[in-house]
Amino acid sequence: MPGSLPPPILPGATLGVLGSGQLGRMFTIAARQLGYRVQIYSPDTDTPAGQVGDVEVAAPYEDLERVREFARAVQVVTFEFENVPSATSRACAEVVPVRPDGEVLHITQHRLREKTFLAENGFPVTPFRRITSLADLEAAARDLGLPAVLKTASFGYDGKGQQMIRRPEDLPSAWSGLNGAEGIFEAFVDFAKEVSVVAARTAEGQFAAFPVFENTHAHHILDVTFAPAHLTEAQTQEAVRLAQGILEALKVVGLLTVELFVARDGRLLVNELAPRTHNSGHLTLDACATSQFEQQLRAVCGLPLGQTQLRQPAAMANLLGDVWLQAGGTPNWAAALEDPDIKLHLYGKAEARRGRKMGHLTAVAATPEEAVAKVRQARDRLLRAL
Ligand code: AMP
Repeated sequence: MPGSLPPPILPGATLGVLGSGQLGRMFTIAARQLGYRVQIYSPDTDTPAGQVGDVEVAAPYEDLERVREFARAVQVVTFEFENVPSATSRACAEVVPVRPDGEVLHITQHRLREKTFLAENGFPVTPFRRITSLADLEAAARDLGLPAVLKTASFGYDGKGQQMIRRPEDLPSAWSGLNGAEGIFEAFVDFAKEVSVVAARTAEGQFAAFPVFENTHAHHILDVTFAPAHLTEAQTQEAVRLAQGILEALKVVGLLTVELFVARDGRLLVNELAPRTHNSGHLTLDACATSQFEQQLRAVCGLPLGQTQLRQPAAMANLLGDVWLQAGGTPNWAAALEDPDIKLHLYGKAEARRGRKMGHLTAVAATPEEAVAKVRQARDRLLRAL
């Protein structure tokens, strides 16, 4: 109905973010560029997002009175971390709009609900089964075959809570590995590559996707992303069409990332959804007119979406705490920046731990291959003696 849409939340307003990591930090920087104020809510202090926000609230997600007080101080709540309890987003929603809403969060924070939603709505996913006993697991292995991947239904990301099952003899130990948690058994996808689509949708239904990103992982953690992905024109269109269908089916107001497998036979399968900005989208900060963080901001505030085209091919390399450990201390930043095309982003985390995302490097170049070579070489130079 015309006129029933909420009015846009304009610059000068105060926004609330649940979660305080690097995604919240880069969102906050984008929001401040547009003249918004930002309050951050998480259990921690001196966080990546809190360091750049106006107010950092350090309280448990379960303290719903404190959550409501936080929500009363802001005009909209968004999140950068999807594993906040549903009760937390519901408490916010009693006071202000939460975007994307609690239903999107509820579906995407649980792998079984997510895959069931995708399958029921006709989106392609690998065959899967719910697992609550060893008998379920044995039946799934019989029906869907091996190899397969067994994952915990909740709280999984970056390959956490995930095991590969190759032989029937491995089923009992895989079942004990779940520690009694609800699991999801997925037929193994023999994929040629992994890609992602970061897309935004407004309350009015305006949709915009960034170019498709191609991702390589190391030890289950994203390592290098480049864009545009090496896909056929038909696959690129299909990836964006799937993303648009998913954002529409979920009625997302905000930004959502679709992770996809490209199978060896060329088919696209949806692996996972993240109802937020994504590590693979970081190169948009340096390679697109609108970053994924500004796009999230525009979508949640009800502003028109920005241009998503790539200005040039680009690549991003993650900097994990391992770099500090290998360098035996501070990495050689000056050496990495010897190439003037390299951009450095650090997240303000004091302690470098193995596997912890500390920052990233981006480069733009004439081709994606050249951009990948540049970020890899720059990352190698970080280890040069100071
Ligand atoms: P996820 O936490 O579900 O994103 O999985 C992390 C990584 O594990 C993915 O990026 C894939 O590389 C791999 N993976 C997950 N599920 C499957 C599957 N069904 N078949 C093959 N590889 C998978």
